[in-house]
Amino acid sequence: MNTEPKSAVADPQKVGIVSLGCPKALVDSERILTKLRSEGYAISGDYADANVVIVNTCGFLDSAKAESLDAIGEAMAENGRVIVTGCMGAEPESITREYPNVLAVTGPHQYEAVVEAVHDAAPPAHDPYTDLVPPEGLHLTPRHYAYLKISEGCNNRCSFCIIPHLRGDLVSRPAAKVMYEAERLVDAGVKELLVISQDTSAYGVDLKYATSNWHGEPVSARFYDLAKNLGKLGAWVRMHYVYPYPHVDKVIPLMAEGYVLPYLDIPFQHASPTVLKAMKRPAHQEKTLDRINAWREACPDLVIRSTFIVGFPGETEDDFNLLLDWMEEAQIDRAGCFKYEPVEGAPANALGNAVPEELKQERYERFMERQQAISAAKLQGRIGTEMDVIVDDIDEDGAVCRSYADAPEIDGNVFIDIEDLDGVDQDGLSPGDILTVEIDEASEHDLWGVPCL
Ligand code: SF4
Repeated sequence: MNTEPKSAVADPQKVGIVSLGCPKALVDSERILTKLRSEGYAISGDYADANVVIVNTCGFLDSAKAESLDAIGEAMAENGRVIVTGCMGAEPESITREYPNVLAVTGPHQYEAVVEAVHDAAPPAHDPYTDLVPPEGLHLTPRHYAYLKISEGCNNRCSFCIIPHLRGDLVSRPAAKVMYEAERLVDAGVKELLVISQDTSAYGVDLKYATSNWHGEPVSARFYDLAKNLGKLGAWVRMHYVYPYPHVDKVIPLMAEGYVLPYLDIPFQHASPTVLKAMKRPAHQEKTLDRINAWREACPDLVIRSTFIVGFPGETEDDFNLLLDWMEEAQIDRAGCFKYEPVEGAPANALGNAVPEELKQERYERFMERQQAISAAKLQGRIGTEMDVIVDDIDEDGAVCRSYADAPEIDGNVFIDIEDLDGVDQDGLSPGDILTVEIDEASEHDLWGVPCL
């Protein structure tokens, strides 16, 4: 039985509210407060006592707007942590021009957005006795790593893909929301954040890279800024689904400086310009090989994982050979391969020139053979080097770990045999621990190492 005293429960966060305008606005304020109260927030009638103040504005007449601005000014002066909502929120610039430091501005009837802004500004106190969900949310991954979704949907229209049709155009989450979630995860013991989306490097385009407030600091919804800010949380940060747009160049020094792992998951899908054009891939016109070489110069440890499609309609033997040669030249560290499938509704199905199934299979096998040779040679080169590894599991055979070069589930592992764990405190060893090992053996996909004591 848990005998922890009830006093361990954190004090509730307190919200103040200034409600201006008509009865409809008053009802809005009541709904917001009802929702917050049901989540355990306390209501405060005192500026000094409140953790955050909501000002529900009225913009019906010029005099009402002036009164609203005065109320915001008073709340800023008396408290300083202010969220503005209501009619004036429909024109946020009219507020941020005078009060650039308000935490958030939401429009009329945007209850959800106001409540979310309050969550961000004053995260609800967690009560372990009554809350069914821990503050970091429920996760299906092991405790020590978690996926961090930064956007939904996609602005690209790759001809083999129906995701934009299913999920719509890119909708990025405000940077502060992503940062607060990441912080909650790290506070809950997550040691590795896996950043995901459909197109991670396009993050924030739809928001015009807007800033939002994270602990009172403006953070921009921009790939570079997000990478840097996440890198300050003290966890490993791994970037998935990045496209080789020119602005990705700027993130490479962050890898060399240790903010994010020197690992990029870039779904290239092909290398032949003809196939890429038919696939309507983003960045297909970029000089990708030059870009990769420049990245490796700036960050020699960079590991690139990718996925490719073989047997795309119209793919010729020359296209396929070009792909194999390109992969060799680019030294793609890890690669997955799919045989093209005509997904119902995908525009590529109308292209004609389908590649026969036996040929797809043959190309798939040739692709995997070449990829394994590249991977095996690269992993051989790791023998004798030291690497930090994160422990995923401990069993009777030893410890199953990963290095920065291995994303969970999709890449390889670094194993430590049980006899090599002799000098390590095995009872104290748990998933999420980070050890330094010296690599002494390699296969096509995995490594083996001995802890450096
Ligand atoms: S393949 Fe990826 S980038 Fe292309 S449309 Fe689908 S989700 Fe977007």
